[in-house]
Amino acid sequence: MREASLMKRIQAQAEAISRVTFYREKFKTWGLNPKDLNGMENFRRIPFMTLSDVQKDFEDHPPFGSLLHPDNIRVHFSPGPKGLIPVVFTQKDIREMNRANATCFRLAGVTSNDVVAVTFNYHLFIAGLSIHGGFETLGCKTIPVGPGETDRTLEILDRYGVTVLASNPSFAMKLFEKGARGIRVLFAGGEPFSSVEGYKERLRALCGGKITLIDAYGLAQAAPLARECLHETGLHIIDDLFFVEIVDPETGEVLPDGAKGEVVVTHLKKESGPLLRFRTGDLSIMERFTCPCGRRTTLPKGVVGSAREMVKIKGVKVYPSQVSLVLKAFPGLTGRYRMLISSTGTTERFDMLMEGEIQGEQDLARLQTSMKKALLIAPNQIEVVKQLENGPTIVDQRHNL
Ligand SMILES: [Zn+2]
Repeated sequence: MREASLMKRIQAQAEAISRVTFYREKFKTWGLNPKDLNGMENFRRIPFMTLSDVQKDFEDHPPFGSLLHPDNIRVHFSPGPKGLIPVVFTQKDIREMNRANATCFRLAGVTSNDVVAVTFNYHLFIAGLSIHGGFETLGCKTIPVGPGETDRTLEILDRYGVTVLASNPSFAMKLFEKGARGIRVLFAGGEPFSSVEGYKERLRALCGGKITLIDAYGLAQAAPLARECLHETGLHIIDDLFFVEIVDPETGEVLPDGAKGEVVVTHLKKESGPLLRFRTGDLSIMERFTCPCGRRTTLPKGVVGSAREMVKIKGVKVYPSQVSLVLKAFPGLTGRYRMLISSTGTTERFDMLMEGEIQGEQDLARLQTSMKKALLIAPNQIEVVKQLENGPTIVDQRHNL
């Protein structure tokens, strides 16, 4: 989207939400008027919001918060710093969400002839109901299967000729291992997927190669945020609903395309619970290119870690959650690990202990390379042990010496 038309949308949204006391007061504090948001420079004067701000609003204005629209009709929940927090929608919000999901599914090759099984949770949280709504909007025969119960799900897939499965990737893997056949599109969400090296390849091999594998990213407060299309070139941002920025988690500086940083989201249309420059805590990389489907702004690997757990080693920002993504690509490893950071004088040392088994020098070298690619620094040594003693994930002894 061009900056001028994006700014028009941002202005219109800011105008609408500034009628709510919460934002009217914020705009006053920031010394800004919604009309001032006519360029990126002014927009970036708006301070970031965090989940704690949202939480505080619910505490100050119980039970649904001050951002609840008078026409609100649905309340989901999402985990917050002090327990579950409400996630609120008007009829129009739900319609926009369903329409956006339906468009994504169409771009993934799904049609109204498909029979869909949704195995996401329908209770409290947003996943099941919102995904279900998208498939119904597209006109698919949609079955609300819900999570768990592998055998019953397999029976439904088989008996009703299900062609599209919406599921966590790990549950899909289980279903394919147990013989699920006939699925031509997997819509996966809720767990790391395309960010795990080799995961898609393993799933595709289980299905005999002919399947479209769609990765998805969204927050309860911002769904659907990004989705893959039929061409699997990465997760395209749903830019008619959201404006996404990638920022340095430490300084808040907006980063250029291709740089890894924290995802910051601004709603462009939401009526109930609208967010402005909301820090998601998720790390990603944004790239711009024109995909054959027509979408232009893409997160090539979706979420690649959490910005909340940064530790600096040898001057490089390291996010431990990225280690977990690397380890998932090595089936012999359990996923448990420990990072040991120490220093002698000004020289820092970074070693890693991992639990499980690794087959031979070649795999160890591959692990070392993957780790360097993910973290941008290579551990001095990686040791794989059968069983890791209980203890913290990061042992930082730099300041004890
Ligand atoms: Zn595309």
